[in-house]
Amino acid sequence: MKFISTRVGSATGKTSVSFREAVFSGLAPNGGLYVPMEQPDLSERIVAFSRQTSFQELSASVMGALIGEELSREAVLRVCEQAFSFEPVIKRLDDTLSLLELFHGPTCAFKDFGASFLASIMEEFLRQESRRTVVLVATSGDTGSAVARAFHGKQSIKVVILYPSGRVSALQEQQLTTLGGNVSALEIQGSFDDCQRLVKQAFVDARLSQSLSLSSANSINLGRLLPQALYYFYGYLQLERKDNERLMFCVPSGNFGNLTAGVYAWLWGMPVEGFIAATNVNDVVPEYLKTGEFRPRPSLKTISNAMDVGHPSNFERLVVVFGGSAKRMRKCIKGVRITDQETLQTMHRVYQDSGILLDPHTAVGVLAARKYRRDSRFGGQILCLATAHPGKFVDIVQKATGVTPELPATLKEALAKEKRATLLKPNLKQLEAFLLDRFL
Ligand SMILES: *Cc1c(COP(=O)(O)O)cnc(C)c1O
Repeated sequence: MKFISTRVGSATGKTSVSFREAVFSGLAPNGGLYVPMEQPDLSERIVAFSRQTSFQELSASVMGALIGEELSREAVLRVCEQAFSFEPVIKRLDDTLSLLELFHGPTCAFKDFGASFLASIMEEFLRQESRRTVVLVATSGDTGSAVARAFHGKQSIKVVILYPSGRVSALQEQQLTTLGGNVSALEIQGSFDDCQRLVKQAFVDARLSQSLSLSSANSINLGRLLPQALYYFYGYLQLERKDNERLMFCVPSGNFGNLTAGVYAWLWGMPVEGFIAATNVNDVVPEYLKTGEFRPRPSLKTISNAMDVGHPSNFERLVVVFGGSAKRMRKCIKGVRITDQETLQTMHRVYQDSGILLDPHTAVGVLAARKYRRDSRFGGQILCLATAHPGKFVDIVQKATGVTPELPATLKEALAKEKRATLLKPNLKQLEAFLLDRFL
C-alpha cells in the first residue's frame, strides 16, 4: 500500500510514500494529509473471520493486508499484540441499538487504540533501523495523555509533552506529569496555541533538526488513523444480529478521524449500510451534507468538548474518498446535530431506562442514532461508538443523572502519584535549550 497527499494539485503532491514514511513525517510536505493511493479489497479476509476471532488476531490480519509489504507477518503480529492489551466491548441498549465501547484502554478513551498502535509500530521501525527519535506533542489535555501512556516505556523513543499551565484539569495534569521514564512534561506558561506554535517552530528549527530526530504523534498521523478501522471490522463481526439484518455505525465526531477510519473499513469491503455522523452544535459537516457547502468557523464550547471542532481536519480525507461530491458522501454518511440540553437529557434517560451511564460524547451519538432511526425508518441494527468512559466526566454525569460515576482504576492511580514537570516560558529558545540539554 502506498500513500499520497490529499492535496495532489501542487508540485510535490503526486509523490507517493510508504507507510513508514507517512508515520514518521505525519503531514505531507505540501501540507496535505496522507491517504491510501488505492483501496485494497479485504472482503475475503472478512468472510474468513468468525465471532471467535480475537481482536488481536483480526488486527494482525487486517494490518498485514495493509502494510504487509513493509513488515513481516511476525512483526505485524508483535506490533498488534503489544499495542492491544485491551479490546472493544459491545453492550446492548435496546432492540436495534448497541454500544461499541472503546474506552477499556489505559486512558479510558478510544484514542488509546490509535496512540498505542502508533507507538508500537514506531518502536518496531526504529528498532529495525537502530534509530532513536524524540516525539513532541502539544496538548490541551486529553489527547496528550493517551499519547504519553502509549509511548511510555518504549526503548527507542523519548516523549516531550507541552501543555498550557493552569489550563488543563487536575486529573489531566496528573496523567501527563506522573509517568516519568522516557516521558517528560513541559508546563508552558501560555495557552494551548502557544504550545502548538512551539512544536511547529521546533520542527522547522535548523539547529534542532540538525542535531535531533524529531517526530510528531498528531491525530492526523496515518499510524493513528488506520488502526481505528480495526474496531469497525470487529464490531461488525461481534454484534449479534439476524441473517442479512442491515447495519449502520453511529460515530460521535469532532475532527472526523474516527468516522474517516470507518469509511475506509467500508471501502475495503466491510458490508455496512453507512454511517451516522453525530456532532454537537459544531456541525459544519452535517451542514455540508445538507447544503453542499463547507463553512469552517471558530468552534463553540459544549459539554462534549473533545468534539468542539470548527474546522475538522479529516474532512479533506473524506472529500478525496467521495471525489468531492456532496451527493455521494450523503449516500454513505448521514449528519445529525445534537445540543447540550439534548445531550444531558439523553444521559438522564438512558440511565433511567437501563442503568447505563454515558459520557457526554457517547450520549450525542446515542441520541443521533435514535433520531436517525425515527426519521429515516431505518429498521436494521445501529452500533454506536462509545468514545469515553463516563468516569472521565464526573461533573457532567452527576449533573445529568444525579449519580457520581466511579473513576476508572488506571486514572485513580495517576492521582496518587507525584507531579514532575518543567516550567517553561513560551519561547523557542527555551524549548531548544531543554531539548538539546536532555537529548543531545
Ligand atoms: C477525540 C474524541 C472524539 C472525536 O473524535 P474525532 O476522531 O476527532 O472525530 C469523540 N469523543 C471523545 C471522547 C474524544 O476524545
